[in-house]
Amino acid sequence: MALLPFFCGKDCGGDACPLLAEVEDGHIRGMHLNPLAGRYIKPCGKGFRAHKNHASPRRLKTPLLRTGRRGSGQFREIGWDEALSYIVQRLIDIRAKDGPGSVLCIASSGSTGALHNSETLARRFFNSIGGCVNVKGNYSCNAATYALSRLLGASRMNSGFDAETIRYSNLIVLWGSNPFEARLGAELPAYLIEAKKRGARIIAIDPRRSISARILNAEWIGIIPGTDAVLGYALLFEMLQDARFDAEFISKYSIGFESLADYVLGKIDGIQKTPLWASSICGVDANVIIRLASFFWDEKPAMIIPGYSIQRVAYGEEAFRLTMAIQLATRNSGLLGASTGSINNCLPGIKVGTLKELPSSLTKGAFIKEGFTKEAHLWEDNHKSQGIEAELFTKTVPILRWADAVLSPSSYGLGSIKALYSAGGNFLNQGANVTKNIKAFESVEFAVCHELFLTPSARYCDIVLPVSDGFEKEDIGIPWAGNYVLYKPEICRALAGTHSDYWIFSQLSERFGLGSVFTEGRTESQWIEQFLAESEIADIEAFRIEGIFLKKGLLRGGLDDFIADPVHCPIGTNSGKIEFASPLWNQNMTLHWQGLMKKGSTEESFREFRLLTPKVSNFIHSQRIGQEDRSECAQIHINPKDMSAIGAQDGEILKVWNKNGTLMASALADDWVQPGTVWIEEGIWTMPIDEVDLCGNPNMLTSDEGTLESISNIMHGIPICIGRIPEATIGH
Ligand code: SF4
Repeated sequence: MALLPFFCGKDCGGDACPLLAEVEDGHIRGMHLNPLAGRYIKPCGKGFRAHKNHASPRRLKTPLLRTGRRGSGQFREIGWDEALSYIVQRLIDIRAKDGPGSVLCIASSGSTGALHNSETLARRFFNSIGGCVNVKGNYSCNAATYALSRLLGASRMNSGFDAETIRYSNLIVLWGSNPFEARLGAELPAYLIEAKKRGARIIAIDPRRSISARILNAEWIGIIPGTDAVLGYALLFEMLQDARFDAEFISKYSIGFESLADYVLGKIDGIQKTPLWASSICGVDANVIIRLASFFWDEKPAMIIPGYSIQRVAYGEEAFRLTMAIQLATRNSGLLGASTGSINNCLPGIKVGTLKELPSSLTKGAFIKEGFTKEAHLWEDNHKSQGIEAELFTKTVPILRWADAVLSPSSYGLGSIKALYSAGGNFLNQGANVTKNIKAFESVEFAVCHELFLTPSARYCDIVLPVSDGFEKEDIGIPWAGNYVLYKPEICRALAGTHSDYWIFSQLSERFGLGSVFTEGRTESQWIEQFLAESEIADIEAFRIEGIFLKKGLLRGGLDDFIADPVHCPIGTNSGKIEFASPLWNQNMTLHWQGLMKKGSTEESFREFRLLTPKVSNFIHSQRIGQEDRSECAQIHINPKDMSAIGAQDGEILKVWNKNGTLMASALADDWVQPGTVWIEEGIWTMPIDEVDLCGNPNMLTSDEGTLESISNIMHGIPICIGRIPEATIGH
């Protein structure tokens, strides 16, 4: 028996957690904590169950070629040579006829790591053969990215807090965040528990009394989903009225605050955003708002920990402008133990090499400069011989609209999309509006995916390539937040019949005559050696044995340098200061709320409930760890009062619908969700029949319309109806 270093590298908000794999006779018997990770860096339960998927009998073990209609799940097994040759021929034919813009790459982060990042690998492959259409943005925090890049500049937008500084917080506000389930770095839960024990005040603003709120015994402020910005306006109003703000501090570090203040004070639209005004919209008692506003000034340092949920709503771009304004106005920004209101920090972190999307021989410079590399010449010649422009094709479509772009390409300045290529993603299931996503898959001539399991997206592909999993690949893990990096060796040989994404793309590139462009002549282990050679890790052998290189926390806030010296350490905005208003913002942004409220009132009869689609402890998006075949019906969590009003019983199958689609879900009375709000976990594998999902994937009800400013996904506060199914129709 051996204990080998391993890291769980899921796109969960943790991204890399240290573990030890107990290995005996080539089999993984269990997972353990890596004691070298210290007291705070903790994997979640999913990490300890990671080996269950590895050993699942349902893993794909051979390439599949579709034989039935799309979605039927009918395939025949084929060999790797046949599969790869077929893919290359179809891509060559489609690209020769319609150009590189006829292929849409929908790769995502199902696999992460310095080398085995599925999204980077797929893009690198397509770049090495001349490009394709890619998706732009992300499903996670697109609206926040829009807002924070305007507030702070792109280079500093993830400048919220470092988990370790929570030691100094007096007030902690989990604003739509649920770090014990949805994670915001691997260290945050342990620091929050420590803060609770020493008596810090912890408040959770959330439509549900989340697991985090319960573990921390936080004061719970229930809020109507999607109205966090309204609460933010009222908090700011109260701070301005009550002289709990610092005007000098605001003007030293920001521009445009006055226009936000004018809106809040009613100078623009005649409506003062008072706690009473907000209460009628967001459902939070006015006295609670007044009390909360005072805490930010009176109980400094105040740490707002905003969750992604507050921006995954209609008009979600506005929420982060408010969290930042509140922290700056109350002079919390820059205090040790406070946050800036931005997303949690991406520390500069540990220096280590990573694979790039663009092979070094194909960098822009290499093309512009004389003396192309041999590979670049080869690439150019190859494309000329195919009659394709020898330029990299680099068009993108908003990720939320990928299916719309397939179905209406001209709306996105594209010709026809003929092929979909998926690696590390399950876009049919995870993208908004499943019905439209299915139509998009059905409309293309050719679809390929790399997969571990026969997912809903895989069922709609022509070729499914079985990939090796995290235990079967050596890699370096780079956490999203935290001052450490991780290492894992190849713990088990790849399951017979499977290969890594890297191997697959190398083979495809080779068949395009461009293998050395993609690989740059390196094997997978040579890349790891290269990345380590580029790193700051002095004792690489120890790192390989111990699996972790950990540096001391730096106890810094998100914008410490800027707050200490705004003149010599400006942030990346045009003014060098935080920009609450600028030409980059839509000047009418603050007026959007009036639009939203108006819209809401005209649809009042339709909007019976607001649906949340949160992450849960057991799964990561559609990665059903330990339960990859989920055929039972999803549960819809409903407050007991609403259950009575509907007349439903626990376990009863209910019909849930809106203008986007219909699903069936099993009713579950839940005291922890407030009346009027219901929730269904995200990531359930869809199985629609006649456009009704019997498994209850909530993306049947989401829309690809998106938020107004940044076309970001709306996953919370979705208007829905719930109804009982007449007995006569059950079973028909
Ligand atoms: S699922 Fe995320 S938080 Fe949990 S162990 Fe894996 S990487 Fe860490």
